[in-house]
Amino acid sequence: MESFTVLMLRAMDDYLEQELGCRFRLLRLCDSPPDRRDDFLRAHAGSVRAIVTGGGDGADAALIDALPGLEIIASYSVGVDRVDLARCRERGIRVTNTPGVLTDDVADLAVGLAMATLRRIPQADSYVRAGQWKDKGYYPLTTKFSGKRVGIIGLGRIGLAIAKRVQGFDCPVSYYQRREQTHPGYTYYPTVVELARNSDVLVVACSLNEQSRRIVDREVMEALGPKGVLVNIGRGAHVDEPELVSALVDGRLGGAGLDVFANEPNVPEALLELDNVVLAPHMASGTHETRTAMADVVLANLEAHVLKKPLLTPVV
Ligand code: NAP
Repeated sequence: MESFTVLMLRAMDDYLEQELGCRFRLLRLCDSPPDRRDDFLRAHAGSVRAIVTGGGDGADAALIDALPGLEIIASYSVGVDRVDLARCRERGIRVTNTPGVLTDDVADLAVGLAMATLRRIPQADSYVRAGQWKDKGYYPLTTKFSGKRVGIIGLGRIGLAIAKRVQGFDCPVSYYQRREQTHPGYTYYPTVVELARNSDVLVVACSLNEQSRRIVDREVMEALGPKGVLVNIGRGAHVDEPELVSALVDGRLGGAGLDVFANEPNVPEALLELDNVVLAPHMASGTHETRTAMADVVLANLEAHVLKKPLLTPVV
């Protein structure tokens, strides 16, 4: 397998990079300066047979077309919304992702963000650190999480894991997705607006596609209302971000716990000023345990491809 050339787009997990380097011929696009990347691609175009990418980078048609020998794209993520799947299908290029192994971590962070937003945990931490407890007394009262009505957009692997967790907090669960499933105990709403109207906490956990882009728009935020909290662990593009900022600033939406943003790593300045939001740097799957498990899935898919065995987690 040492002659099978894998192109890595940016520096990734150390373990993944090390194992890729041991098992394959590894090229790192990120080693060449941004203005030399086209030259780098041209120089290696004939030899690259696999791309290892992440959810944020994906692989667009221009990159795919620049590599005539490309056979497989292995994404170190479950979301492949930035991989041009249509072009891959046209060219017969296989695509894999890392579903399942990250579900627990992402669900944990969703619940953590909901709780941190309602109970203002980061703000309370800053209060103690700044000595305000001594100066001003106890922190102002916050809002209870247990028992809140949790609405989930996308009751897939991660959505179901969130539902399971919040049931432990006595939260009634309802959901919206394109196809109603038989989930005893979980209420289905046929539109996101109806789901939002009947939720205290609305969690975005669906995959990103043309129908779910900006699925949380002004109407949904109005339906969630001034006491409602939005949690987004899906993708930034699921939410109309300018509308979100103005709803939070105006108090038309109660709060937000956000792991993902429209233009990462840029976060709207206005959000940084608000104390009804909790912000995370797209870290939902970012634990040692899970990133190693994700790396193993990437490696196993590449090895299966080279050995002409069935891929473990094929998308295309
Ligand atoms: P999954 O098991 O495939 O579930 C996706 C869910 O989204 C399904 O319930 C699906 O139901 C629903 N869905 C798809 N398109 C929809 C639409 N247009 N409107 C409403 N619902 C829709 O995927 P998963 O493993 O749970 O992962 C879900 C997403 O989480 C990923 O695609 C990724 O974007 C995001 N994620 C984020 C992080 C992070 O670091 N923040 C980490 C991992 C994953 P229907 O097909 O019936 O609509």
